[in-house]
Amino acid sequence: MNTPEFEVLLSEAEIKKRVAELGAEISNHYSQDKSRHIVVIGVLKGSFIFLADLVRRLTIECEIEFIEVASYGAGTKSSGQIKLLRDIAVPLEDEDVLVVEDIVDTGHTLYYLLEHLQRSHRPRSVAICALLDKPSRRLRDIKAQFVGFTIEDRFVVGYGLDYNNRFREKKDIVVYKES
Ligand code: 5GP
Repeated sequence: MNTPEFEVLLSEAEIKKRVAELGAEISNHYSQDKSRHIVVIGVLKGSFIFLADLVRRLTIECEIEFIEVASYGAGTKSSGQIKLLRDIAVPLEDEDVLVVEDIVDTGHTLYYLLEHLQRSHRPRSVAICALLDKPSRRLRDIKAQFVGFTIEDRFVVGYGLDYNNRFREKKDIVVYKES
């Protein structure tokens, strides 16, 4: 196996600060209507660390659910083929849903997920919160309402993001290069 090389793109401290800001933005947005609580849907597996930090920064009540899709095969290129591995098992009708994703790249995954949620679960509203956004690679008309960081076209790992299921445990978000 080749030796991987990492270059820190976003440090643990930078991520922590931005996640706190996002928590405040989201809470502020939804607390306009005092009766509201939201259903936060984490997209497995990449979002699990981000989601865990984000929900602890919310000042509104939330329910937490997970959905799992396979979008990338092995490697760093999107296949464009999305497969639903695990669906939501609770009713979402009349709920305000916030989909929490690690990164929006081509947009195929979120396009598929939004379509699936609207068609099969009919929530009252759906918004997207993505930790990272790579707009230069977009192939679908997808826009996240809440974005942590906009980044260039680099393949990153850490803070939940993987390369072939490795490196999710890294505290920083790092650019991955195989030497
Ligand atoms: P999209 O369907 O928008 O092309 O890609 C979304 C999914 O691709 C993300 O949830 C993530 O799993 C994966 N992905 C896209 N870019 C990166 C990246 O730079 N690093 C990692 N680790 N995964 C990525």
